[in-house]
Amino acid sequence: MIVVLRPGTPEAEKQKLIASLEENALRVDVSEGVHQTVLCLVGDLTPSYADRIAALGCVESVTRVTKPFRLSGRREHPEDTVVEIGSVKVGGGHFVMIAGPCSVESEEQILAAARAVKAAGADLLRGGAFKPRTSPYDFPGLGAEGLALLKLARAETGLPIVSEITSEAQLPLFEDVDLLQVGARSMQNYDLLRELGRLDKPVLLKRGFSSTLHELLMSAEYILSGGNERVILCERGIRTFSDSTRNTLDLSAVPALHELSHLPVIVDPSHATGRAALVGPMALAAAACGADGLMIEVHAEPGASLSDAAQAVDCDSFAALARRVRAVREAALS
Ligand code: PEP
Ligand code: MN
Repeated sequence: MIVVLRPGTPEAEKQKLIASLEENALRVDVSEGVHQTVLCLVGDLTPSYADRIAALGCVESVTRVTKPFRLSGRREHPEDTVVEIGSVKVGGGHFVMIAGPCSVESEEQILAAARAVKAAGADLLRGGAFKPRTSPYDFPGLGAEGLALLKLARAETGLPIVSEITSEAQLPLFEDVDLLQVGARSMQNYDLLRELGRLDKPVLLKRGFSSTLHELLMSAEYILSGGNERVILCERGIRTFSDSTRNTLDLSAVPALHELSHLPVIVDPSHATGRAALVGPMALAAAACGADGLMIEVHAEPGASLSDAAQAVDCDSFAALARRVRAVREAALS
């Protein structure tokens, strides 16, 4: 970290600061300029200690040189991480297609979607059982019953399942769920993230709709620092002034996250756009820009969806889209 002292800082104050930094196990290299002194600090600095230094009256500016992503950062871990969900691999050249309805609504509904997405070549089946809804009056999901129906669909199709967990109290119900999703609204539920860090289970961490990539990676750090290295990141659109789509898909997040981190990055064009007609084009764009996978909401009867009907893709459209995604990936890789 580079600390620039204010011009005219008395020598005694400077020496006192240097002594206190050294007491905190930091190496301090001092560079005396004509007007100002620059301290180069080498060692382990917590963000709150850096903030306290920045708040000192004699300090003009503080610049962090290293990124704080100790475990998720590419610098510490140059190779791509490959996350395994049963026999399905994500990252490091392995592309995953996750598909299924926004919510599990009934046995008939989830089985119809599961059969269709399996036939279209999906690798994992999604379906929300605990739905974080903006309105408390909207369909909240079937809870434990929804998870049981999802497992039934897994038993029939062989597809591993992914579902959103909204609280650590639900963990016992998720023991047999293959991939645990942390939704955009929970990305900064640090108690939940810490609990997921204690598991040996893959976690799909969605970006909060007003979160920076830095904040997303710091949330990933909560899981990784608990010992769980199986984290997949998901770009699902952020909130901007644009009112033509539900959110704005930040596709540059894909290569930017790949630059910063070794973790796989997938894209959810359904929540990003909120409109079924836009899901396909943005899915293709995500495949072209190097995403490690896609998560797409599919419903056998979109008009009857109990949640997110406007963005649900029907089964035939999904099958056609899956074929085009494969073609785009082949073209992008050649
Ligand atoms: C979902 O995937 O069902 C969902 C609620 O998405 P998000 O958390 O991205 O809004
Ligand atoms: Mn949804």
